[in-house]
Amino acid sequence: MMSYIEPAPIKDKDNPLESMMQRFDKAVDLLGISEEMYYILKVPRKQVTVGLPVTMDSGEIRTFEGYRVIHSTILGPSKGGIRFDPDVNLDEVRALAAWMTWKCAVVDIPYGGAKGGVACNPREMSPGEIERLMRAYTTALLDVFGPDQDIPAPDMGTGPREMAWLMDEYSKSKGMTIPAVVTGKPLVLGGSLGRTEATGRGVMVSALAGMEKLRINPYRATAAVQGFGNVGSHAALLLRERGTAIHAISDISGAYYNDKGIDVADAIAYRDANKGSLEGYSKAEAISGDELFTLPVDVLVPAAKEDVITRKNVESIQARMIVEGANGPTSAKADDIINDKGIMVVPDILANAGGVTVSYFEWVQNRIGYKWTLERINRRTDRIMKEAFDKVYETSLKYKVSLRIAAYIVAIDKVASTYKYRGGF
Ligand code: NAD
Repeated sequence: MMSYIEPAPIKDKDNPLESMMQRFDKAVDLLGISEEMYYILKVPRKQVTVGLPVTMDSGEIRTFEGYRVIHSTILGPSKGGIRFDPDVNLDEVRALAAWMTWKCAVVDIPYGGAKGGVACNPREMSPGEIERLMRAYTTALLDVFGPDQDIPAPDMGTGPREMAWLMDEYSKSKGMTIPAVVTGKPLVLGGSLGRTEATGRGVMVSALAGMEKLRINPYRATAAVQGFGNVGSHAALLLRERGTAIHAISDISGAYYNDKGIDVADAIAYRDANKGSLEGYSKAEAISGDELFTLPVDVLVPAAKEDVITRKNVESIQARMIVEGANGPTSAKADDIINDKGIMVVPDILANAGGVTVSYFEWVQNRIGYKWTLERINRRTDRIMKEAFDKVYETSLKYKVSLRIAAYIVAIDKVASTYKYRGGF
């Protein structure tokens, strides 16, 4: 097996980004990709580091460090979020950019992968300071961003508000309004209907597609969902609407179990009225977050954070399938045990790609200057997710590998064969 030129500095052995690269290596081996192609796919096209002096409310000028990494532009303009977090560093951004390349390729949308970030703590900054930082970051990257070049989106610590500032700053520099330079904008600025629930929707479509293969009737099925934020709560609600009983949900406050099924809409209303937390939810029994993973349900949806299914708890999982709403919830070391247990895993780069799919729709709508209905967006998202699932499933049969390795094979094969036709870029 070939090794990387510049691995991300990994301290923790179960680091999800290292896990991602281990699976990448496995898929590359199975595809029999040449060493030169391996490095073409591995090494980012462009890495930019910027210093961003920002006047704070106190009058003091603080200089922040920001990054943008374009991992690949082989399939089209690069796409990826902007993270505002104290731990942001170039190596993390570089690995996350590669992750975006594979995710876009799996769902067959015409984008390469990118990621950006600024090392800062937005929780300790005023809205005015965040706005000045976002505008400084945009100005510093004016020659990188562009609707045909590199299209950012929100990520940890940023949202529609920041994307609106980015769009405005970029547009000002060009002397015209250019909404397609960024996705995840507020609806009034050209954001897309359906974006908020898109990732949860993709999780639901993936779960139903997996159930069909395992001959599980969704109306008789049960599920447990870890994380009750954007992805988890929408996935739970949409699965419930399709007949699946949600036996457990959880958030940072703990897990909540009801073997008669949780009324998901009621739990969402409770959360929204309770400062975003399920703390004290009384229509279900409080259990520990760890117990949720061991419940005898058909479908387990980790939709909170990375590295929650590891060698330590994988043996006790009873679910027949795992649908990864979160990025990197399963460590590479748990993969083999999961496979031995015969659990189907719909991997993150497939299962949670509904979000980037509707971001792509936002960009398409901005470019044609027209708004699609929610019904059209949902129908197209469902089709893209289902086609991607089927392709990954067929590939897993062909290569006799897990859906996870199959997803990487589909993605890497697509990017590598496009490169072979194009050459050079
Ligand atoms: P969010 O902040 O809206 O929700 C996160 C939820 O997880 C919250 O309910 C939080 O309380 C809960 N949580 C945190 N730590 C927990 C723990 N230890 N145990 C149980 N619950 C815990 O975030 P989100 O947007 O729903 O994202 C969730 C995951 O999905 C992340 O890994 C994210 O990278 C990934 N993802 C999100 C999107 C998207 O469109 N939002 C797209 C792709 C991937």
